[in-house]
Amino acid sequence: MDELKTPRRPLMTYYMIAIVAILLLNIFIFPLMNSRRITEVDYGTFMKMTEEGKIKEVEMQTNQILFSDKDDALYKTGIMKDDGLVDRLYDSGVTFSSQIVTQTSPLLSFLLSWLIPIGILLLLGRMVRSRLQNKESGGNAMFFGGNPFGGFGKSNAKIYVKSSDGIRFQDVAGEDEAKENLQEIVEYLHDPKKYEEIGASMPKGVLLVGPPGTGKTMLAKAVAGEANVPFFSMSGSEFVEMFVGMGASKVRDLFSQAKEKAPCIVFIDEIDAIGKKRDGQLSTNDEREQTLNQLLTEMDGFEGNNGVVILAATNRPESLDPALTRPGRFDRRVPVELPDLQGREDILKVHAKKIKIADNIDFGKIARMAAGASGAELANIINEAALRAVRDGRRYVTQPDLEESIEVVIAGYQKKNAILTTKEKLIVSYHEIGHALVAAKQTNSAPVTKITIIPRTSGALGYTMQVDEDNHYLMTREEMENKIATLTGGRAAEEVEFGTITTGASNDIEQATKLARAMITRYGMSDEFDMVAMETLNNQYLGGDTSLACSAETQSAIDKKVVELVRTQHEKAKQILLDNKTKLDELAQHLYEKETITGEEFMAILEK
Ligand code: ADP
Ligand code: ZN
Repeated sequence: MDELKTPRRPLMTYYMIAIVAILLLNIFIFPLMNSRRITEVDYGTFMKMTEEGKIKEVEMQTNQILFSDKDDALYKTGIMKDDGLVDRLYDSGVTFSSQIVTQTSPLLSFLLSWLIPIGILLLLGRMVRSRLQNKESGGNAMFFGGNPFGGFGKSNAKIYVKSSDGIRFQDVAGEDEAKENLQEIVEYLHDPKKYEEIGASMPKGVLLVGPPGTGKTMLAKAVAGEANVPFFSMSGSEFVEMFVGMGASKVRDLFSQAKEKAPCIVFIDEIDAIGKKRDGQLSTNDEREQTLNQLLTEMDGFEGNNGVVILAATNRPESLDPALTRPGRFDRRVPVELPDLQGREDILKVHAKKIKIADNIDFGKIARMAAGASGAELANIINEAALRAVRDGRRYVTQPDLEESIEVVIAGYQKKNAILTTKEKLIVSYHEIGHALVAAKQTNSAPVTKITIIPRTSGALGYTMQVDEDNHYLMTREEMENKIATLTGGRAAEEVEFGTITTGASNDIEQATKLARAMITRYGMSDEFDMVAMETLNNQYLGGDTSLACSAETQSAIDKKVVELVRTQHEKAKQILLDNKTKLDELAQHLYEKETITGEEFMAILEK
């Protein structure tokens, strides 16, 4: 069990240094401390001091006289034949003492100068060692590397065990499929026998896959909480970053502890940090490979039914080494997706329970406004709302708090002191109304809920919030085209009204281009390329960047197609605005004056 023997040596060094230190102390420091300084004076001075009554204590020794003055300074002088001395001393009020200099017993001084220092140093050494061990396996060590005490033996303490914080499935809102999937693990941990009897073995590893903040960690904790078993957790990046040169032995440690505690859950967050494909690139990371190999060995090493279930989370499943995902290792994959409308509402409600909140809150509306938000973002929205309520001196959170905090989370705080010139403000008004009007006039586009021209810290000068009424899983070609038209609507309004264009449309342009490109290269929505994939998605959960998979000629053909597609929609948007120019003017003027208008206000003016 005790795999790491070599690291004991630094401790020996420590003890050697300690012994030398004690020796030095005894030779140089203690003698000085033990003896107070004694000044030698001649007998005449002694007699004179006696006469002047300056002496406080006297000790007659066989070959010398020790005495102290009123300031407790010590003196000594030789013995003289002096008959009346005792009487004269007595007369001047001297105290006769037998121990002016306290002589410590030899035993006591030995204790003081040797045993106690050694004891203290031993104790210190022990403390340092146990601290090192704790830190090493607890994960917060800051001093690895050049440290002489770095890397002591294996830790026996149960430091990996983290409580699952009492999280249960009911605390994880939405994610019903994931919960259903994991329920089986819970049942297995409850009663492994049932499975053994029939000869079924549980998957050793379950991979939780999904975008950041969707509750993967929570789900893993909930499994441990439901099954009431210990929860060992470790982050993949910790393995390779914190424990330089120690990754593999940490894995071994983690598993040996887990096996002792079985049944239990081992949770490895960010497993992609160790489990990346070993792709034979030049710059291989030996450390990581060793760690990964150790993990694979450990997973193969234990039999199917020993009660240790490994859960791992990642948001880049495509980058995992195939060895990790083959049967017998992480062979089960549980998708943890961004919550849908109902899921968002549930998550909001779960987190709203933790704060004081008005009882007429329309969670459905908030959920609809927060389209695309992850669980973590929704939790953040609730917290922002609570902070806002406190800031405004309210006792509980209200609907406007929640609505404003969505905007804060999406677009940043209101920029109170950003001053737009009148002309700029008018341009922004037209731009935003342009988006909204184009969206509203295309039958298939989602209606607008809110338009504002109050600048935000994110840099947005204004924005139009569109809301999907219900869940969308598919988008038709027309819907995508309309979306592009809506995105170009802002710029189109500037052109229609002012005959000039501004820099304000950069974000719109980016999004429109992305959409148009995806339609052509990935969704097969162009007549020319039919159903041929020109691009592949690299990581679906993080940003979604793509890599091209076509010849250079095709690339330039694609570029032309993209431009053509966006241009058509841009023209369409302009036409819509020209056809509705009076409404555009009226709405933009209204927004200019009020700075924020709701979807209802907008529709009321539009339909007037
Ligand atoms: P991940 O591990 O997927 O990145 P976490 O599990 O760490 O995400 O979630 C981060 C936070 O987001 C949680 O602490 C929780 O407050 C909130 N959260 C995420 N998903 C949910 C959910 N489905 N239900 C309730 N809260 C959630
Ligand atoms: Zn815009």
